[in-house]
Amino acid sequence: MKKMMAANWKMYKSHFEARATLQDLLYLAKNLPENREVLIFPPFTLLDAVAEQIKGVPDYALGGQDVYPAAEGAFTGEIAPGMLQDCGCSWVLIGHSERRHVLGESDEFVGKKTAFSLESGLNVVLCVGETLAQREAGELSIVLARQMDTGLGSVGNSLEPACLCIAYEPVWAIGTGRVAGPKEILEAHAQTREHLEKKFGDNGKNIRILYGGSVKPENAAEILTLDNVDGVLVGGASLQAESFSRIILS
Ligand code: PEP
Repeated sequence: MKKMMAANWKMYKSHFEARATLQDLLYLAKNLPENREVLIFPPFTLLDAVAEQIKGVPDYALGGQDVYPAAEGAFTGEIAPGMLQDCGCSWVLIGHSERRHVLGESDEFVGKKTAFSLESGLNVVLCVGETLAQREAGELSIVLARQMDTGLGSVGNSLEPACLCIAYEPVWAIGTGRVAGPKEILEAHAQTREHLEKKFGDNGKNIRILYGGSVKPENAAEILTLDNVDGVLVGGASLQAESFSRIILS
């Protein structure tokens, strides 16, 4: 199983900046080690441009940062799975903590997006993770169980494992510089794996679980050696080619 190295560019970058970043990234990390796969989630406005630059580059893929669970319709400001595919996306990011906590997305809506995207032929990175208050209240297991059960509730049990990644992203570690320690990552990833195996049987062993939250070139190698860590989802440190290439190659 290749480790998935995913970049979440959030709401950053002009066309000029995106082109320059990709050009540098492909110079620094075009020939990937056998066990690496790279996935870029740029803002919607940059999808076409990034698609053009990574076209034909082995093991580089493109994803949208969000999606609406309908094929088309009167949903102003939203974007359909087919529109992402039309721009060259094979993946979509769903349930990122900024969408859950800043934009108020419910577990149920996240679940609808996940099921509809998979049915539409998009691969999904589904984000889960607890807030600091939830962790301090001892609610990690409850939160993970709820987000996994509702997020995957309408997904068929016979899902092809390569089509789904779960990103465990403790909310208190995103963009804060405070990375979760090995013990915390191991515990949350083991619980996530249990949920996947409960739902998908043996196929659950082959669904990748990514860690996200202040991953940097300095800590990526150690995180990637932990049990049940099958890749990383990187925000801040993915914005510069130099730091993201070091993470990819670590
Ligand atoms: C993210 O946006 O998913 C993320 C993990 O951000 P950062 O790496 O900046 O913590």
